[in-house]
Amino acid sequence: MNTELSGRVVLITGASAGIGEATALEFAKYNSKLILLARRAERLQKLKSQILEKYPNTQIHTCEVDVRNKQAIDNVIANLPQELKDIDVLVNNAGIAIGFETLENQSQEEIQATLETNVNGLIYVTQAVLPRMKERNSGDIIIMGSISGKQSHGFGNSIYSASKFAVEGITDSLRKELVKTKIRVLLIRPGSVETEFTLNRSRGNSEFSKIYYSGYEPLDAKDIAECVVFGANRPTNVVISELNVLPNAQV
Ligand code: NDP
Repeated sequence: MNTELSGRVVLITGASAGIGEATALEFAKYNSKLILLARRAERLQKLKSQILEKYPNTQIHTCEVDVRNKQAIDNVIANLPQELKDIDVLVNNAGIAIGFETLENQSQEEIQATLETNVNGLIYVTQAVLPRMKERNSGDIIIMGSISGKQSHGFGNSIYSASKFAVEGITDSLRKELVKTKIRVLLIRPGSVETEFTLNRSRGNSEFSKIYYSGYEPLDAKDIAECVVFGANRPTNVVISELNVLPNAQV
């Protein structure tokens, strides 16, 4: 499929699973060039093989990196192959939620991991990519927020929700900083999506999702991936600034 996304350079954080993985598959359909970031190198390699099997001409560069490590992120961006240096679309997707504990039971380690991944990681990757986008006065920054960034879903959500409220503030500020440029900023707020995220959050308890998703069917990662591609594929004079994407009947 050849469209305006063909040949565009797309960097996706958290590409080894869930929404990021589905987003990589979605952009590959359009013949985009892919830079895939995550900590699990073997999962990225598996995804690369899967994409190349379907779309053999896709250019794919994988990077094993932790978004919490600013220096490592800066190195990855500085050392991209020449033909991938001009990133057209940045998908800031890497994110975690650990556990479902009340505020007083959240461990310091888990609080730190959640905030550093969801907030600092987003900042570091954006800081690394933005200067070149500004030089070229062109690009899309797509940020994976959450409906938990608008309202807490109650029990066990305090730290994750805090991180996604912070994402809201960063995104709104960034959009205002860039308003006179041709760089577009899109915030996507998914509701429940069935990925490893839920399993990690319930500390591996697969029964948990049955209780968590009561009264509705969670989305598939592909539902969100299609929204990412839709946002990036609008004509350059059109900005979609926010999308809430929820399973029908989720409140
Ligand atoms: P998954 O757990 O399926 O995937 C998370 C991805 O983030 C993985 O690729 C993981 O890769 C990567 N990641 C986590 N920590 C780091 C890190 N420190 N450095 C680099 N990569 C990291 O989750 P989802 O796909 O469901 O979530 C993606 C985004 O969507 C997150 O921001 C999440 O908050 C948001 N979201 C998800 C919802 C859901 O219901 N699933 C609802 C609303 C928002 P690796 O472990 O290999 O590093």
